[in-house]
Amino acid sequence: MYECALCSPTVVLDLSQNQRILEHAAAHILHDPKVERTTEPCGLCLRPAPLCQFFLKKGKGANRTLKIDKYTGCPIKPSFSYRVASESSASSPCSNVPIACPLCPEKDVPAVWKYNMKDHIRNVHKTATLSNHEYLWKLSNFEIMEMKNIWAKRHNVPVKRPKRSKAPPLVVSDMYRSRIPSQRYWFLYFYIVNVCSFWILFQRG
Ligand SMILES: [Zn+2]
Ligand SMILES: [Zn+2]
Ligand SMILES: [Zn+2]
Repeated sequence: MYECALCSPTVVLDLSQNQRILEHAAAHILHDPKVERTTEPCGLCLRPAPLCQFFLKKGKGANRTLKIDKYTGCPIKPSFSYRVASESSASSPCSNVPIACPLCPEKDVPAVWKYNMKDHIRNVHKTATLSNHEYLWKLSNFEIMEMKNIWAKRHNVPVKRPKRSKAPPLVVSDMYRSRIPSQRYWFLYFYIVNVCSFWILFQRG
């Protein structure tokens, strides 16, 4: 389980569901005024870029799709399928994955998260013409709409909780609390009866 560092009230995310963490963090990057986009926040944990670095390589097989080769710093292990995560679909609209920047040197340079690419080129490659690279970060209307929905519903993340094995302690303490006054009244009753009977005996002499 992983607690989102930026959400209040707390949002707990399931580490085994990387895709949900990707889209939750991506919604912060797109819509949260607290997120400073020029720091190129990590697409998983939202910390500034130098802290988490992801490196890509071409995978094996006929179509040799990209995959994450190695990563440093991030407290969340990137266990998502790169191909699935990079495509916007009905079940996972978010396509924010680390991609290669065409303007950075090819070797030993960390990848840039897709949603940060515009800020990356603007800040790191100041002489580049932004419109020439728009294809790298341009989102479909579907993805824009769905990411708005994910941001609006970010606090309704279903979390599997372990079953309770014992009866809730509240019930026990309620029973206990309700017994105390009745005991006190019984004591008071006996006290009054005893005092009265002594008083009557004393009066009779
Ligand atoms: Zn959050
Ligand atoms: Zn990270
Ligand atoms: Zn670059």
